[in-house]
Amino acid sequence: MRTAYKCRAYPAPEQAAVLNRTFGCVRMVWNQVLAWRTERYRADKTRTSYAESDRYLTRLKKAEDLAFLNEVSSVPLQQALRHQSAAFANFFAGRAGHPRFKSRDGRRSASCTRSAFRMRDGELFLAKMPGALRLVWSWPGVDLTTLDPTSVTVSRDADGRWYVSLAVDTDDPVPLARTGERVGVDLGIKDFAVTSDGERFANPRHLQRKQRNLARYQRRMARKCKGGANRKKAARKVAAAHGKVRRAREDFLHKTTTRLCRRYDVIVIEDLNVTGMVRNRRLATHISDCGWGAFRTMLEYKAARWGRRLVVIDRWFPSSKTCSHCGHLLSRLDLGTRHWTCPDCGTRHDRDVNAAQNILAEGLSVPACGADVRRTGKPRPRSAAKQETPRSDPGRTRGRRP
Ligand SMILES: [Zn+2]
Repeated sequence: MRTAYKCRAYPAPEQAAVLNRTFGCVRMVWNQVLAWRTERYRADKTRTSYAESDRYLTRLKKAEDLAFLNEVSSVPLQQALRHQSAAFANFFAGRAGHPRFKSRDGRRSASCTRSAFRMRDGELFLAKMPGALRLVWSWPGVDLTTLDPTSVTVSRDADGRWYVSLAVDTDDPVPLARTGERVGVDLGIKDFAVTSDGERFANPRHLQRKQRNLARYQRRMARKCKGGANRKKAARKVAAAHGKVRRAREDFLHKTTTRLCRRYDVIVIEDLNVTGMVRNRRLATHISDCGWGAFRTMLEYKAARWGRRLVVIDRWFPSSKTCSHCGHLLSRLDLGTRHWTCPDCGTRHDRDVNAAQNILAEGLSVPACGADVRRTGKPRPRSAAKQETPRSDPGRTRGRRP
């Protein structure tokens, strides 16, 4: 299994200068080659292989105005092209969007394979960089001095923090012992997640506070002149606030997904069409902040790592409106209704727990061996969309400006 350990790095000024120059070259090469191969594809549908892009890089390095590309290690530049080839492979396979140009302001990174770094007694040396890079190791269970990374990625976030990520090949993890427990998870906006056992994962409050700070810094930045020094300072504060929100959210998602995977053998979630829902303006900020996409990704890899089964069910399944006790289907259930009583069997329901129980039952009806976890059989009516989707308000949801 491949895994990676990420920790903070604190480069000395002259090291930071080398790394910044490398980042600039990586970005330049990425963008130049991306433009070139996009143009080739547009002209006559030619797809560019890694080897071809590498030859193009050699041509770039010979150009007079790009001679500075020779001043940095060539390995990160080639790695960037390998990543770009992988990004295009994903794009052509329909797994990802079209690779984008890298902007000056975002996260910057450079990757090295074994030929361009050396680890000795837990110290990291990079090609063309003076001295060892100072790391603060934050993995108490892992001995840095015995680590044998296959590649190293140095990155700098928009808020100026430096990181090193060490990719290593490790033994496959031992699956966790079976617990005999199964769970359905309903994702929502009021609570981040509610389980069929009645457990609630509330959206953390400190996250909301950090989000308000972020919004305030963004407003402040918007008032400064473009291109000015004050704008730059304000942008740094926005980036720092962004980083805080992102790290807090990641932390919350990691804890939640780890807890679910430790506790349950089978986890059932709904396939929320996150991008489709984010298109709705009113809910967009809420949903983007929730991180449902990241939640699913983390569950997927943690379930695979620990031998758990993750079932993703059809997103049009009317989980909220169906009575989990008798199967009665309500014709409507308003978003504000948190509790309801089934008119058929008289069971009193908590809206979210009932939905989670339905999700669990639906997930368990999927055969365990099937690679396709989507529900087969008769399609359910599309009008029975998940209730957390706001009632359609076509004027506002799409196209027209408010
Ligand atoms: Zn009922």
